[in-house]
Amino acid sequence: MKIFNTLTRRKEEFVPITPGKVGIYVCGPTVYDYIHIGNARPMIVFDTLRRYLEYKGYEVNYVSNFTDVDDKIIKRAIQDNVDSTVISEKYIEECKKDMKALNVRPATTHPQATKEIPDMIDMVNTLINKEHAYEKNGTVYFRTRSFKDYGKLSHKNIDELESGHRDDAHQLKVSGEDEKEDNLDFVLWKPKKEGEPSWSSPWGNGRPGWHLECSVMSKKYIGGTIDIHAGGEDLIFPHHENEIAQSEAANDAEFARYWMHNGFLRINNEKMSKSLGNFFTVREICEKYDPQVVRFFMLSAQYRSPLNFSEDLIIAAKNGLERILTSAEKLRDVIANAAAPAELQAGEQEVIDGIKPYVEKFEAAMDDDLNTADAVSVIFEYVKYVNTNVNSASSKALAEALYKELSVLAEVLGIILEKKDDDLDSEVEALIAERQQARKDKNFAKADEIRDKLLAMGIELKDTREGVKWKRI
Ligand code: AMP
Ligand code: ZN
Repeated sequence: MKIFNTLTRRKEEFVPITPGKVGIYVCGPTVYDYIHIGNARPMIVFDTLRRYLEYKGYEVNYVSNFTDVDDKIIKRAIQDNVDSTVISEKYIEECKKDMKALNVRPATTHPQATKEIPDMIDMVNTLINKEHAYEKNGTVYFRTRSFKDYGKLSHKNIDELESGHRDDAHQLKVSGEDEKEDNLDFVLWKPKKEGEPSWSSPWGNGRPGWHLECSVMSKKYIGGTIDIHAGGEDLIFPHHENEIAQSEAANDAEFARYWMHNGFLRINNEKMSKSLGNFFTVREICEKYDPQVVRFFMLSAQYRSPLNFSEDLIIAAKNGLERILTSAEKLRDVIANAAAPAELQAGEQEVIDGIKPYVEKFEAAMDDDLNTADAVSVIFEYVKYVNTNVNSASSKALAEALYKELSVLAEVLGIILEKKDDDLDSEVEALIAERQQARKDKNFAKADEIRDKLLAMGIELKDTREGVKWKRI
C-alpha cells in the first residue's frame, strides 16, 4: 500500500516497523461540546484505514486520545458552574455515541490527558535534563532551537518562523509568556491559575500543555516510534511539529514514520464557523440524515482533498448508498427464497469467477493512498454486475458467493448492509426516549415528528399506562 507522507510530500510504500503489525495514533477531539461534522472526517477516514489494514491481515493497535484538559473545557465549566471533569466526561460519552452511530469502531485505547499526568511530568523532566527545556516561574518551555530538525514536517524554515513571530511579540507578552528565551519556544507545562484544574509537579501546581499529551500517550500505548500518525491538516503546524520536537528530543528516536493528514470539510463552500451560522454538530446532522449516509458521503472523496458538505451532495450520497443496499437486499432475497436448486447452475461459476477483477480494482484503489472515492466507484460497478447477473432464477449458491464478497468490501468501508435487530432496538429506544423528552418539554411537533420517523422505520408506538410500547409492523 502507498501512503502520502506529509513528511516527505511523496507517496511511499507502507512498510511497518514490525512485520504484520501497525501502530496508529490519531489526534482526537477536545471534549468541551458535541463534536462537529468536521471532526467526523478524520474519525471516519482513519477508521477506514484501520479496517483496510486489518483486511490486509495486519494486527492494528489504534490509539486516539481525548483532550480533556484545555482552555475551552475550563471556560465551558466556568460558564456552567461545574467541575471541568463534568464537562469532559459528558462530552467523551456523547462523542462515543456519535462514533457508534457513524460506525467508527472504538480505538484499541482512548487515553485521556488527565489520566497520564505522571508520564507527562517524566517527559518534561527528561527534556529539562537534556537541556531541551527550561523552567521560568512555574512555566516550562521547550527550547525550540535546540531541536535541529524543527520545521521538517510543515516544511517551514526556522528563521522565517522567527520573523513571523516577532510581529506577535506584543501578543505573546499579553498571554503571559514574556519570559521565554526565544519567541519560538512553546509551553510544556503551565502554572495553575485560580479556578483551573491542576496537578502538583516539580515546577509547582499546574497543567500540561496540549502538544505534550500526544507525545506521551503515543509512546506509552504504541512505542517510541509509531508507524502512522494522523489528524486533520490544521494540526501539521504547530501541533504535530511540536510533538516531533518533544518526542525526538526526549527519545532520540524517529517519532512517526508516516504522517497522514485529512483535508478540511467545508459547508456550502465556506469554512465552517459559528459566526457564519454554518456550524453543525454530528448530532444535528444525524437527526436529518441517516448516519450511514454521512459516513458514505465522507468516503466519497479521497481523504486529502477538501470536501464540501451540501444538501445536494448528501442527497447524492444517500442515493448512491441506496443502490448498494438495494442490491444487497436483492441478494438476500434470492438466498432466502431461491426457487432454483441450491447448487450452482450452468454458467454461474463464470459469474463467480468474474468477481475477482472487482476485488483487485477495489484493492488497487485503497492501496493508492486510501482512495476511497475510487473504491466506492468499484463497489458501484460490482453492484451493477450483481444486478445484471442475478435474478429470481439464480441459485442460492451464486447469490451467497456474490453477497459474501459485497459484505467483505462493505465492511472495509464500514457500510452496514443489513441492520441487526440489536442495533435497531437501541436506535428505536433512543428515539422513544427523545420523544418522551419532547413531550415533557411540550414540544409536541417534535414528538409527532419522531413518531412518524419511527413509523417510516416500520415501528408502531402505543402509549400505555406502563409507558410506551412498540412493535414492528
Ligand atoms: P479539535 O477538537 O479541534 O482538536 O479537532 C479534532 C480533529 O478534527 C483534528 O484532527 C482536526 O484536525 C479535525 N478537524 C477539525 N475541523 C475539521 C474540519 N472542518 N474538517 C476536517 N477535519 C477537521
Ligand atoms: Zn495530537
